[in-house]
Amino acid sequence: ETLYVELGERTYPIVIGDGVMRQVAALLQDAGISPASRLFVISDENVAPRYLQPLKQALVTAGYRVADCVIPPGEQSKSLAVYEQVMTRAIEAGLDRKSAILALGGGVVGDLAGFAAATYMRGIAFVQVPTTLLAHDSSVGGKVGINHPLGKNLIGAFHQPRLVLYDTAALRTLPEREVAAGFAEVIKHGLIADESFVDWLEEHAERLWQLDAEWVGRAIRRGCAIKAAIVSADETEQGQRALLNLGHTFGHAFEALCEYAVLNHGEAISIGMCLAAKVAERIGFAQAGVFARTERLLRLFRLPTAWPNGLEPEAVLDVMKRDKKAVGGKLALVLPRAIGQVELVKDVDEQEILTAMKEEA
Ligand code: NAD
Ligand code: ZN
Repeated sequence: ETLYVELGERTYPIVIGDGVMRQVAALLQDAGISPASRLFVISDENVAPRYLQPLKQALVTAGYRVADCVIPPGEQSKSLAVYEQVMTRAIEAGLDRKSAILALGGGVVGDLAGFAAATYMRGIAFVQVPTTLLAHDSSVGGKVGINHPLGKNLIGAFHQPRLVLYDTAALRTLPEREVAAGFAEVIKHGLIADESFVDWLEEHAERLWQLDAEWVGRAIRRGCAIKAAIVSADETEQGQRALLNLGHTFGHAFEALCEYAVLNHGEAISIGMCLAAKVAERIGFAQAGVFARTERLLRLFRLPTAWPNGLEPEAVLDVMKRDKKAVGGKLALVLPRAIGQVELVKDVDEQEILTAMKEEA
């Protein structure tokens, strides 16, 4: 199954399927990356022992010269220090302007490797081989980057991949919490734009949770297609793209206050999407029932929906205000109008948000 993402002047394929990693050499050639190009694979210590050797083998057999670099797993690797190490390895490996960087891993590897590709000799080809469900989100939109000690994703670029190779077989070794976190973003795409996709997720939750290749492939495809439609309508992030932040203003505040330890990103936005629905119902923006259905759907995918232990609603509101530069006691929030339909509401009253949070806390 292949989905074509059209952004700007370039179109690239997202090839999704069980075992598609074995076709890597042929797909690279289709994407215009021939065996004359040197390849540099970046992966992490959890992913490399499982998938790096077979990937390299398939490439070497087809005549590619391949070097690699394995980084420690986790958000800490999206750092200037690791970026420097990766660049050093790339230079030592003799990469030139015709070379390509492959990201084999989740969103951390994808963001770092994409940024390396965007900046190595002012930009070389980039290919994503995502191994997490969450990375369906990062495989569309072209945002790549690393963190600075003063904030997440502060150093980055836009760099579109030439090819995304999504082997659903690789997802089966993911820890359960990472599976759930990935589904949080899949569900988000449904809640934003497609009620029939939400119906489908509800109906097949059990099969999807088992990571049945065919079904999870369809979920990834639909999630990527929704994101691609929104991003291509708004590449410069003026209007529509903001809708992708459903649940994220709350979620980022939870992540910051928990110091990124207790809750992962998917868990934080899961709770955030419930709160957005709660606020929307409170102020009469959403139909009754949106909150209950949102909460039920997230629970089907083993995601948390209850207020995070030990956090004060006032503290969460303070962080949200900083994040969104609130003016005059009003905050801009993405709120659901109905299931499958959201809007950016520019003047939500702080007190309403606080009351909704206190009801949950
Ligand atoms: P991740 O890359 O840290 O992967 C999660 C964990 O799973 C890691 O420990 C990893 O080693 C492990 N892992 C990955 N694949 C595995 C597999 N197949 N089997 C076993 N273990 C495996 O995290 P993520 O959730 O994929 O991505 C989160 C990152 O993505 C964040 O840094 C976020 O900022 C970024 N992101 C970027 C965009 C974008 O548009 N660029 C969008 C969403 C998220
Ligand atoms: Zn997110």
